[in-house]
Amino acid sequence: MYLHDFYKVLRIPEKISSAFESLSSAGFNLDLFKLPQAAMSVFKYRESTLQDVFELFGLPKEAQTLLALQWPDFLLPPNQLSFHAWVILFTSYQKGAFYPTNHFEHVINSLVKVIENNGGVIVYNQEVIDFVVDNKTVTHVIAKDLMSDQDNPQKFEYAGETIICNMDPKKAADMVGIENLSNTIRKKLDYEYSASNFMAYCAVKDIELKQYGFGKWNVFHTGSVDLNESFNKMYHNHDYTNPSFAICTPGFLTEEASDRPEGQHIIEFLTVADYDYFKQLKETDKSAYKKKKKEILNAMIDAVEEHYIPDFRKHLVFKITGSPTTNERFCWCPQGNSYGSILTPENMTVSRLNHKTSLKNMYFCNASSGFAGFAGTFRTGTKLYQHLSGDQVI
Ligand SMILES: Cc1cc2nc3c(=O)[nH]c(=O)nc-3n(C[C@H](O)[C@H](O)[C@H](O)COP(=O)(O)OP(=O)(O)OC[C@H]3O[C@@H](n4cnc5c(N)ncnc54)[C@H](O)[C@@H]3O)c2cc1C
Repeated sequence: MYLHDFYKVLRIPEKISSAFESLSSAGFNLDLFKLPQAAMSVFKYRESTLQDVFELFGLPKEAQTLLALQWPDFLLPPNQLSFHAWVILFTSYQKGAFYPTNHFEHVINSLVKVIENNGGVIVYNQEVIDFVVDNKTVTHVIAKDLMSDQDNPQKFEYAGETIICNMDPKKAADMVGIENLSNTIRKKLDYEYSASNFMAYCAVKDIELKQYGFGKWNVFHTGSVDLNESFNKMYHNHDYTNPSFAICTPGFLTEEASDRPEGQHIIEFLTVADYDYFKQLKETDKSAYKKKKKEILNAMIDAVEEHYIPDFRKHLVFKITGSPTTNERFCWCPQGNSYGSILTPENMTVSRLNHKTSLKNMYFCNASSGFAGFAGTFRTGTKLYQHLSGDQVI
């Protein structure tokens, strides 16, 4: 392959990204007369995985690995990942990978402040257990108080003109009663969840990570040049002997130290993990579950010591790991999913689930009914705000 062919491949995301922008501002109306070029370039790759496009252009394996190395951001390898999903992230990163100056907690606290300063109330420690529907309308929502006796929990009813549902749409549909939803929505709700993950949040001290090549960026490591094989080994065979994973050093992204102890740096590791496997281990053999978590962390640290920081363990002062069941327990995300519905071509179509529920006053607002990730979440919420208020902000 010649260099100009490589550039040709890199020009496609650019072209498709601007096509997405045109279509998005036109409300994804695939009108071939109004937006012929944009619609056609999006249409052409609608069923393609990233691997399909690599093969179409005969990209050498090493170049494929380089372009797909960011796979932990999707939790999918190139042979399953929607080319369109890859384009959205790849081109967004070219425009800038931003991080909140005062960290994510400040963003959340600011949102809470806006809600409360405008007369809103946030009720904590309550779990929605039912949506009561009459005549295609949610008349009220029932929640239970998690701080009360769970054998006989205290329940509360909430009613509103408009119900916006942030939880997973499938989970909500079960409570609404699937029979209350239209056939179109039922079909759209038939999605598979994205893979779950394994996270390690660590702190190191008495070390300058900068000297070891870390900085204002993420590092993506792979032991094998074949990312499809690497993903399958970890996800399906639970074999982490030669792992592929992401390394994040958020302390470089802002001057604000937050509550990080003086002289310490945060370093995070992320890779894929199979929910069913971890769930079974946890339920049947707690010590095997803990052993597996230790084994994965050690495999990633071994790779760090071999390739980046020779005496990493000597500097490690804090570590905490999270498995798929941790995600499920803390985030209440079904099957410990990372990004809502799986980002395959089947799910990345114009007929993807959106805010519509087919009920008169209820709207979905979640990664599976919009887009995943921090930026995707904001976009999903903003789009719904625009739809409900008519106020155009993006
Ligand atoms: C470990 C991990 C690390 C990640 N790291 C990043 C990252 O670095 N950058 C990034 O961009 N994205 C990251 N993501 C992805 C990102 O977190 C999600 O895409 C995003 O949170 C989706 O937002 P959401 O509002 O759709 O759903 P969620 O954030 O899952 O919000 C749904 C909310 O509904 C609540 N809920 C569920 N059921 C009920 C109920 N019955 N009653 C009341 N409340 C309920 C849940 O508690 C939750 O608060 C990460 C995901 C995971 C799991």
